[in-house]
Amino acid sequence: MTDTAHAPTSIAVLTSGGDAGGMNAAVRAVVRTAISRDADAYVIQDGWQGLVDGGEAIRRVSSADVGGILHRGGTVFGTARCEAFRTRQGRRDGVRHLLERGIDALVVIGGDGSLTGANIFREEWPGVVTELAEAGEVTAEVAASHPVLRLVGLAGSIDNDMSGTDMTIGADTALHRITEALDSIRSTASSHQRTFVVEVMGRHCGYLALTAGLATAANWLLIPEHPPEGGDWAQEMCAAMRAGHEIGRRQSLVLVTEGSQSREGEPITAERVKEVLEEQLGEDTRVTILGHVQRGGAPSAIDRVLATRLGHAAVERLLADPPDTTPQLIGIRGNEVASSPLMECVTRTHEVAERIAQQDYEGAMLLRGGSFPESQTILSTMQQAAPRPTAHGRRRFRLAVLHGGGPAPGMNTAVRAAVRLGLNRGYSVLTVKNGFLGLRNGDIQEMEWMSVSGWVSEGGADIGTNRYVPDEPAIAQIAKQLAAHRIDGILMAGGWSGYQAAHLLHTHRQKYAALDIPIICMPMTINNDLPGTELTIGSDTALNSIVADVDKIRQSAVASRRVFVVEVMGHDCGYLALMAGVATGAELIYLPEREITLNDLCVDVRNLTERFRSGKRLGLVIRSESADPVYTTDFITSVFQKEGGDLFDARPAILGHVQEGGDPSPFDRVQATGLTAHCIEYLAEQLESGGRASAMIGFQSGRLQFTDLTSYPRLIEDTAQRPREQRWMNQLPLAEIMTV
Ligand code: ADP
Repeated sequence: MTDTAHAPTSIAVLTSGGDAGGMNAAVRAVVRTAISRDADAYVIQDGWQGLVDGGEAIRRVSSADVGGILHRGGTVFGTARCEAFRTRQGRRDGVRHLLERGIDALVVIGGDGSLTGANIFREEWPGVVTELAEAGEVTAEVAASHPVLRLVGLAGSIDNDMSGTDMTIGADTALHRITEALDSIRSTASSHQRTFVVEVMGRHCGYLALTAGLATAANWLLIPEHPPEGGDWAQEMCAAMRAGHEIGRRQSLVLVTEGSQSREGEPITAERVKEVLEEQLGEDTRVTILGHVQRGGAPSAIDRVLATRLGHAAVERLLADPPDTTPQLIGIRGNEVASSPLMECVTRTHEVAERIAQQDYEGAMLLRGGSFPESQTILSTMQQAAPRPTAHGRRRFRLAVLHGGGPAPGMNTAVRAAVRLGLNRGYSVLTVKNGFLGLRNGDIQEMEWMSVSGWVSEGGADIGTNRYVPDEPAIAQIAKQLAAHRIDGILMAGGWSGYQAAHLLHTHRQKYAALDIPIICMPMTINNDLPGTELTIGSDTALNSIVADVDKIRQSAVASRRVFVVEVMGHDCGYLALMAGVATGAELIYLPEREITLNDLCVDVRNLTERFRSGKRLGLVIRSESADPVYTTDFITSVFQKEGGDLFDARPAILGHVQEGGDPSPFDRVQATGLTAHCIEYLAEQLESGGRASAMIGFQSGRLQFTDLTSYPRLIEDTAQRPREQRWMNQLPLAEIMTV
């Protein structure tokens, strides 16, 4: 429960340090949540500099003042490095400027430097307030009513270097920029048979390079936390490059994080890597320093949603906590908002850099924690020129990989990972063409290490997918094919009908011995409508595609007053509609999970019309394709068009199949690779222990989870194509607050 007795009535927010995509969304969420809770909201221009300067730099803002900023890159309220704030006098001025406006609650969005400064500012606050009162610069009454500063920090940094949160605001956007750049570099590199050495930002943190390396299949990676283990990094790198060329690789990509070093602490720059490659391999090598490209551009869907959630949670936290609470960093762990003492996070963040400086790389990797070490291992396996030799006498199990359901971005990425990780375990990996239909027809082929070269970034599904679900005679044929191809385990990476088909095979395992094998289902669909997981691979790409289209639609409406009714995919599941609504700032969102009534529609039309009357120029309605059989997109558009009269007109925008296509987003590539690794491990555990269990892999509260395949029917709705539990629905109130 919120203790309103402690509730501050004026909350200020600032962005500081390096700018990062999503900072605007965070400011917007802080302001709108504060206003929705009857607090006054202030924005401080240019970070600490604005606080020190005071005057116009600290502005009271309305909900409308933070409208139209969600899609913009960087921070529209500015950020600056501020030397004056490092001095007590500068901070003293800052306290005075806040007190003059009755502000004693602050949300700081920035990196570890900004948050360290914030903590010092808060610690000094009581002493400075007394001092200002004694000097007559503020009244005794003002001093008495603001004895402490309430402070909450949000990690805004492209580097993803902050302890206390799995993701910093801005990291995913930077990853988009890096991945786009690397995809382009790859295509020019292969045209010319070149090696590209690309320097990626990250100071002491290799997150961006490691994740981008996974997303683009980098051939060699240098990150500060994990220098090459052999004695001589240059020799080791050249040997790996040589092996790559010997198997026919036409181009190579080496990623270097700024701040990389050898095991002995010798700095390794991109230029140094180029020199080594040219000297030792005589390769045509080019260096690209990505630099500030990584900061810019429209924020990704993940950053918009993350920043909105965190900004909202920051204000809720300020309102709920007693004033003298230890300042907290609000971050995300798994998929849950989590808070930790701010300074502990800053200290642990600095500790990683110290470990690296002391050449304690194991310690640095341990401190990074989470999926960091695992990603590093997966990447180094996938980079190999060939699978490691099979241990003598081990059985070479045969795994089949297939899809089912509609196409989902990331399917090729998953097949690539399955092939390489399966082969590396000493198994045979077979791909089945065209889903369960292909399995019935025996359309099965054995894969090799290089058969999947270049697949990491390709959209679509090269081995094919469809919505075919086998009937009884087909199941018998499938059993025959599995026996004929001696298949020991199946990885089904797909959507709704893939799950149906896999479950059907599993239920027939007593009837056909060939079906009594482990099957693992991996969730791949843009709809996010599968059981056993709160997130499916492919949905992030679709969401980014929707967000990019809506950004364009918004821009097209500059000259007119208009309502757009945007229809998005999702089948019976409103996930894409709700998340797209949060990420684009839609005024209205219609979901299949919530029936639309005529009464709702009347209220919505009236409210939106009212907002146009008071100056609104653009309205955005997002409707899920199956939101309601009667109140269709055309119907809703017609209602708005009619009721808008002279005030506005209305247009439909049905985004259609573009949402299913396109190259997978970095997040989907990384998740497709990581989840596949766990699927292969699951199958390996079953096969090597003689087990026969089958499962659905997924995320619950952001953590990896295996759910027994036999529970599939219990987890889905009887009448609609979606799971019974849909945790993302708890974001609905957030979407509503944000459109206030
Ligand atoms: P980041 O927040 O991205 O780490 P910086 O380290 O440049 O970026 O910090 C941003 C600003 O925060 C600095 O310009 C300064 O005003 C303030 N700041 C950083 N460290 C401190 C500190 N130790 N004491 C006071 N202010 C600080």
